[in-house]
Amino acid sequence: METKVLKPTKKNVKYCAKLIKDGEVVGMPTETVYGLAANAFDEKAVNKIFEAKMRPADNPLIVHIADISMLKELTTSIPDIALAVCEKFWPGPVTIVLPKSDKIPLVTSGGLDTVGIRLPSNNVARELIKECGFPLAAPSANLSGSPSPTTAEHVYDDLNGRIPAILDDGSCSVGVESTVISFENDIIRLLRPGKISVDDLKTVASNVIIDRGVLEVISNDAKVKSPGMKYKHYSPKADVTLVSGSVEFFEKYVSERNSENTYALIFDNDNISDDIKSIRYGGNSIQQAERIFSVLREIDKIGAEKVYARCPSKEGVGLAVYNRMLRAAGFKVVKEGD
Ligand code: AMP
Ligand code: MG
Repeated sequence: METKVLKPTKKNVKYCAKLIKDGEVVGMPTETVYGLAANAFDEKAVNKIFEAKMRPADNPLIVHIADISMLKELTTSIPDIALAVCEKFWPGPVTIVLPKSDKIPLVTSGGLDTVGIRLPSNNVARELIKECGFPLAAPSANLSGSPSPTTAEHVYDDLNGRIPAILDDGSCSVGVESTVISFENDIIRLLRPGKISVDDLKTVASNVIIDRGVLEVISNDAKVKSPGMKYKHYSPKADVTLVSGSVEFFEKYVSERNSENTYALIFDNDNISDDIKSIRYGGNSIQQAERIFSVLREIDKIGAEKVYARCPSKEGVGLAVYNRMLRAAGFKVVKEGD
């Protein structure tokens, strides 16, 4: 099958909606990362997502809606705190996990009795959902395990020949996947960090608990609250190590291990020796979120074997960058002073 990369004109959005209505899957832009979209209610179509991505069947998909009125039929109960989150942060990069209704097939929810739901702010995504007239299940549009796609080209590189079309709306503005949360009375549990930060969530909840899967290794057999967090994820082929501490410590640590195919991932304002080949991945957490996945793909393209990365801040959206880097590094972290 030939994969068409299409500008998001009205005509092309209609064309892609038709493909989806016919049971196909399509690459869809969102503000977080590109998604691979199919009819969330259609078991057969959703199965095609898992096939195209080679995704493990117990990893649930996020269901995308175009309007808050679409929320009701997807869940059996919407607590007040969930509504408060939707009112404050939707449309936007936060996914709420609620008990699923019978309309959501188990393939969509990865066998769980809950469903993750999000109202994206990207206009093309919302137009596509509206044109379809039903919610779209869409995980990230990458091959399972590889870095998430933040451009249509990334989607094409991974899925060319496996899907009929990609709507190309340029680079994703946020760059990391949505914040995923669940609710326990008036407490929010953070299952996956994203642009909507712990501090943002604290404005609507009495407390925010960070699930242990966010910062710890979860074994592949473990039963976890957010299944996506247990897989080795976002992994470039290169061997990545996170180096935490000052830039001086970083420079010394990498210099002692430098070789032909060694690269450093550093911040925009870092100054390190020209003897170390380096790639910059942003000056602040917002820029790092925007660039992290492109940079992880780039290091594979240039054939890097060893990569040492400056450790991102854990504040705000930095926690999301740290969480993704930690997985790209297979949890290998070196700390100054250890
Ligand atoms: P992706 O769209 O590829 O980033 O994958 C969606 C991720 O959202 C999953 O891997 C889970 O971590 C999370 N998620 C989706 N639905 C649920 C759910 N019902 N319960 C917990 N986590 C979920
Ligand atoms: Mg993903």
